[in-house]
Amino acid sequence: MSQIKVAVLGAKGRMGSEACKAVIEAPDLDLVAAIDLGDSLEELVAKGAHVVIDFTHPDSVMNNLEFAIKNGISVVVGTTGFDEKKLSQIRGWLSSSPKTGVLVAPNFGVGAVLMMQFAAKASKYFESVEIVELHHPNKADAPSGTAARTAELINEARASVKKEAMPDATTSSLDGARGAKIGDVHIHSVRLRGLVAHQEVILGDLGETLTIRHDSIDRSGFMPGVLLGVRKVISHPGLTFGLEHFMDLN
Ligand code: NAP
Repeated sequence: MSQIKVAVLGAKGRMGSEACKAVIEAPDLDLVAAIDLGDSLEELVAKGAHVVIDFTHPDSVMNNLEFAIKNGISVVVGTTGFDEKKLSQIRGWLSSSPKTGVLVAPNFGVGAVLMMQFAAKASKYFESVEIVELHHPNKADAPSGTAARTAELINEARASVKKEAMPDATTSSLDGARGAKIGDVHIHSVRLRGLVAHQEVILGDLGETLTIRHDSIDRSGFMPGVLLGVRKVISHPGLTFGLEHFMDLN
C-alpha cells in the first residue's frame, strides 16, 4: 500500500485535532475525513478510509468501532474506558471481519509505554513497589488508566517469579492514607493545577531505591505513538491491546 488513507473521529477535540495535524504532516498518510459529533460515519466508506483514529468519548467509541469493523476499516483507538467486556465485544465483531485490525492503547506516549515496561521488569527484583500518579485537577478518573495498567503489569511480572507480598506493618491509618490498591500495588493520585500527566514508580529494597518517572508535557507527545499504530494496525488483523505489542522491546 503506498499512501494510507486515514480518517479521524473526534476531529474537533483536543486529541483528535492534534491527530489531524500529525496525519497531514506525515508524508505517507492522507487525511481523507475529519469527523466530529453529528457527522455521518458513512463518510468513512465514501472516502475509502483504510484506518480510523478514534479520540471521542467512552459512550461513542463502541458504536464507531462496530461500524468501522463491519466495513473492514482498521481502527486505532485512543479513547479510554475499556474493560474486558468491551474488549470481548470487539473480538466478536472482528471474528466476522478477519482481515481487520484494531489497536486499543490506554497510552500512546512512547515514553509512558517504556516506563510501564521498565517498571514491570524492575519490580521482579525489588521487595516493594508503589505508584504515584500526578495530573491536572480537571481529570475525572482516579487512579489514571496508565497507573492502573502499570499496576496490572507489575502484578503479572511479580506473579511470574512468585514474588512474595510486599511488607506493610500499617495497622491503623486514615482512610486513603495508603492510596488505592490494584492487586498488591498501592497507587497514590495527586491532582494539582499546573500539572499535565505524570507518573512515578518507586521501587525499594534493602539499602536502595529506584524511581522511574515519566512526564507528559504536551498532547503532541502522543502523536508518534498514534502514527506508529496507524502504520502497523493495517498489517495486524485482530485485536491488539497496548502499543507495546507494536514496539520492538527485546
Ligand atoms: P475532547 O476534547 O472532549 O474530544 C472528544 C471529541 O470527540 C469532541 O469534539 C466530541 O464532540 C467528539 N465526539 C464525541 N462523540 C463522537 C462521535 N460519536 N463521533 C465523532 N466525534 C465524537 O476529549 P480529548 O481530551 O481529545 O480525549 C478524547 C479521549 O481520548 C478521552 O477518552 C481521553 O481519555 C482519551 N485520551 C487518550 C490518550 C491515549 O494516549 N490513549 C491520551 C489522551 C486522551 P463534543 O465535544 O461535541 O461532545
